[in-house]
Amino acid sequence: MPSTKKPSEKKSTKRPASVPVFQSVKGMSDVLPKEEGWWKAFHEAGMRTAELHDFHLIETPILEPADLFEKGVGASTDIVEKQMYTFRTKGGDRVALRPEGTASVMRAYLEHHLGYFASPLKVFYEGPMFRYERPQAGRERQFHQWGFEVIGDGDPVYDAEVILATMALFKELKSGPLVVKINSIGCKVCRASYREKLKNYYRAREKKLCKDCTRRLEKNPFRLMDCEEEDCKALREEAPIILDYLCQSCNTHFKSVLELVEENGIPYEPDPYLVRGLDYYNRTVFEVWSPSAGSALAGGGRYDYLAEILMGRLVPAVGAAIGIERAISFLKGAMPTPPRKEPVRVFFAAVGDQAKKASLRRMEELRRAGVPVVEALGKRSLKGQLKVADRLKVPLALILGQKEVFEGSVIVRDMVTGAQETALLDRFVEVVKKRLR
Ligand code: AMP
Repeated sequence: MPSTKKPSEKKSTKRPASVPVFQSVKGMSDVLPKEEGWWKAFHEAGMRTAELHDFHLIETPILEPADLFEKGVGASTDIVEKQMYTFRTKGGDRVALRPEGTASVMRAYLEHHLGYFASPLKVFYEGPMFRYERPQAGRERQFHQWGFEVIGDGDPVYDAEVILATMALFKELKSGPLVVKINSIGCKVCRASYREKLKNYYRAREKKLCKDCTRRLEKNPFRLMDCEEEDCKALREEAPIILDYLCQSCNTHFKSVLELVEENGIPYEPDPYLVRGLDYYNRTVFEVWSPSAGSALAGGGRYDYLAEILMGRLVPAVGAAIGIERAISFLKGAMPTPPRKEPVRVFFAAVGDQAKKASLRRMEELRRAGVPVVEALGKRSLKGQLKVADRLKVPLALILGQKEVFEGSVIVRDMVTGAQETALLDRFVEVVKKRLR
């Protein structure tokens, strides 16, 4: 338990005595019990969606070789240039806290030859990601993502399926209207000529660019498209768009994705300026936006070259990642309570040593029968315990005293009316279940 500073008698200019010595690292938050309902709702919606869409769990370590991301995500991306937590282990290995999940999943796919077991492989993951960004609303240094990946097939049907699964998860959460912004960023062939056009356009206007964009212009001109500086944003309005440069095959692929998305009733908006901040994307890129939230709740796309970059293998793939904190904060704005939270309906009270001893076993019997139980056994008096039951608004309380232990019974109390009955301990689980129906 973190220690706290003792109150000092002298007036100090330092930290007030009530502030604990230890606080979480800047940009990294605790998920507290009061948030439980939202996190559980998200997790349950994710699991349900994964099951319905046939995605299977994959869990990769939080630490990976640093060059997995340097190579995979791209050396000239913001993530690698500025945001990675990288360090050397005592054994001298250079490792990084993962800034995103896709490169790790592809590493695992190649390492364990997962393509032999399923083609395509459809997986989901859930866990913390780390990026050294300037903390602000909706942007943390540790945040959580839920991801869907389909690895081993380039068919546009899988681009659509990833988009559908992402939207289905939000639907499961009853999120309200969301829109998919979508674009194609082409392939190695068509992107090269667009890249030159873009460079020429920006070179002619270099003086107006921000420092970052001037630096990125030669190495990665696509990144200029998602710069947030006002002058760069204004220049973007007139910039050439990739859709005019797509090759035949990328064009057909993109059209098929749009058709499938439309056929499935997903609201979408083509956004010719959407490029996404990671190098590994090709063809389809998309983000999920809410008309009210000012930021993306999820993002993804196709990454057919990632396996080639990592291990020289050609493995087409497509995926998406949902920012869980952002999704939850968006839901909180849209509804007063989490979409589904089963309230606990039974309180167990025990008075006296014998009763207390017996109570753990009796509560287990209820839990094994699928009945969630709460208690306040640390409080000695019945009054104190029932006060907690009142506060929790639990409708049914079970009371075990010395007399009941001796007789092999338990009192079942209706907390709303105060009416009580006695049930035999041999069949009290049935009685409780009947009362809860
Ligand atoms: P990305 O991996 O950058 O494509 O991000 C996918 C989703 O993760 C975004 O749409 C956000 O919802 C979320 N996200 C990305 N970066 C952060 C961050 N620093 N803090 C909180 N959420 C984030």
